[in-house]
Amino acid sequence: MAALGRFAAGRSVGYNHAFVKAAELNQIRLHDTLRNRLEPLEPVHKGEVRIYTCGPTVYDFAHIGNFRTFVFQDVLRRFLRSHGYRVLQVMNLTDVDDRIIQKSAAAGVSIREYTEKYIEAFLEDMRALNLEMPEEMVRATDHIEDMVTLIERLQQKGLTYTSEGSIYYRISKFPAYGKLSKIDLSGIKAGARVDNDRYEKDDARDFALWKAPKPGEHFWETRIGPGRPGWHIECSAMSMKYLGETLDIHTGGVDLTFPHHENEIAQSEAATGKPFARIWLHAEHLIIEGEKMSKSLGNFFTLRDLFAKGQKPSSIRFLLLSVPYRRQLNFTMEGLKQAENSVERLRNFVRRLKEEKFAGGENPAIHKRAEKAESDFDAGLADDLNTAVALAAVFDLVRDINTAMDRKEFRQQDAPRLIAAMEKFDAVLAVLVDDDHDKLRKLGFGAAQRQLPVEQIEALVEERQLAKKRRDFKRADEIRKQLADSGIILEDTKDGGVRWKQK
Ligand code: AMP
Ligand code: ZN
Repeated sequence: MAALGRFAAGRSVGYNHAFVKAAELNQIRLHDTLRNRLEPLEPVHKGEVRIYTCGPTVYDFAHIGNFRTFVFQDVLRRFLRSHGYRVLQVMNLTDVDDRIIQKSAAAGVSIREYTEKYIEAFLEDMRALNLEMPEEMVRATDHIEDMVTLIERLQQKGLTYTSEGSIYYRISKFPAYGKLSKIDLSGIKAGARVDNDRYEKDDARDFALWKAPKPGEHFWETRIGPGRPGWHIECSAMSMKYLGETLDIHTGGVDLTFPHHENEIAQSEAATGKPFARIWLHAEHLIIEGEKMSKSLGNFFTLRDLFAKGQKPSSIRFLLLSVPYRRQLNFTMEGLKQAENSVERLRNFVRRLKEEKFAGGENPAIHKRAEKAESDFDAGLADDLNTAVALAAVFDLVRDINTAMDRKEFRQQDAPRLIAAMEKFDAVLAVLVDDDHDKLRKLGFGAAQRQLPVEQIEALVEERQLAKKRRDFKRADEIRKQLADSGIILEDTKDGGVRWKQK
C-alpha cells in the first residue's frame, strides 16, 4: 500500500466508558455546509466514522492558521472516539503542485527530496500539538495511478476535453455545480480567470484535471498522456480509494469550499452517481490584525516562531481549540497568555486532587457535580463541537470543587471521581500532561536551561522536605536554588506539603 505506513496508527478503537453510561451521551449534530444546517451524524458503516481531511501542501512549514483547522479536526476525531466510534480518517499530503515543482527545480532536488523535510516538520508539529495521527496519511505522488483511473472514468462519461495536452472538466455537464459554495458563476465569462492556470480552456469555469508538462518541469508518463495531476483530482481519488464512494465527513478550512471542494464534488459525484460526502465541515479562519493569516500575505507565525518566543505547545493547542470552529479566531499574544493560564489552572487542579490530603469519606453532592459537568461537556461538543460551552463546563467545575475543598466539603474518596472526570475531558482537550518542556527540548528550543529528569526533581523535593524537618535550612535552601536554576518552582500547599512546577 502506498500509505505512509510508518505513520499510520492503525484503526482506532473506541474508548471504554467507565464514567459515562451510553444513555447519557448526546446525539452528535454537525453543521453541514452543503445543506447549511445542523445534521445528525449517521455514519454509513455502523460504529465507524470515515473522515477525509484536506492536508497541507508541503512546500513550506505550516502556519498556526493551518493548525487552527487541524486542531479542530483533532477535536472532532477525539470527540467521536469518546462516543465509542471507531474513526477512519485519511489526510492527504499535497506533495506536488506548481510551487513545489518550481521550488524543487530551483533547489536542484527531486520533488520527493524537497517535500520530505516539510513532511517531517509537519509530523513533528502535529506531535507537539498532541494531534492524533490519522489512520492514513497519504502522499499525492503515491497515487498518480488512482488519479489517472478516475480521470479515465470521467473521460468515458464525456465530461472532459483536452486542450494543448491538458485535460479539463467541462462544468456545463454537471448541473449541480455550485451547490456547496452557492456561488453564482453565471457572471464569469469565457476568458475570465478564476484560477491561476495559464492554459487554454473552453470556459473559464472549467478546471484542469491533468496538466500538460512544461519544459524542464517534472511530469509523469501515463495512459492519459504525460503531465501532472491537478490539485482537485488528488483529493477525489485518494478519499474514495480509502473511504469508499460516500464518506461520512469531509473537512477543511473555509477557503477550500470554492473551488476545491466544489470541484471534488463535481469529479466524484459525476464519476460514481452517488453523494460524495454526507457532511461537509469547514473551519473559519484564524485571523491576525483583521486579516486571514496566510503565506501570501506574509502575516504568519509558524509553530516554531512561537516556540522560539518561549510559547508552549499546550497554550497554542488550548488557544486554537477554545474558539468554536465556525467562528473566526483572532490571534493575539494576550490570548495566548490567557490560554497558558487556563492550562496551568487545569494542571494545578489535578495536582491538588492528587496531592492534597482531605478528610476521609465521600460527599455524594460532589459526585453529582462531576456528573453534571461531564454531561454539560458532552452536550456542548455534541452541539456542532461547541468547545466554548464544553470548556465553560470544565472551568465551572474546577471553580466549584476548589471552593468545596477550601470549605472542607471535599472528601478523600471524591478525588478519584474528579480525576476521572478531568481525564475524560482531557481525552478531547489533550492539554493536561505537563510535557511542554520535553517537547520543546526535543525540537531544539529551550535547550539553554538545564533540565532535570522528573525522578531527580522528586528526589530533591523529598530531600528538601526531610532537611526542613531536621531544621537543616542551609541544605533546604541549596536544594531550592538548585531546582530554581533548572526552572523548577516550589509551592507550599495548605496541608504542609509542597508541589513543584516547571517555570
Ligand atoms: P494549505 O496547506 O494551504 O492547503 O492549507 C491547509 C489547511 O489549512 C486547509 O484546510 C486550509 O483551509 C487551512 N487554512 C489555511 N489558512 C488558514 C487560516 N488562516 N485559518 C484557518 N485555516 C486555514
Ligand atoms: Zn483536498
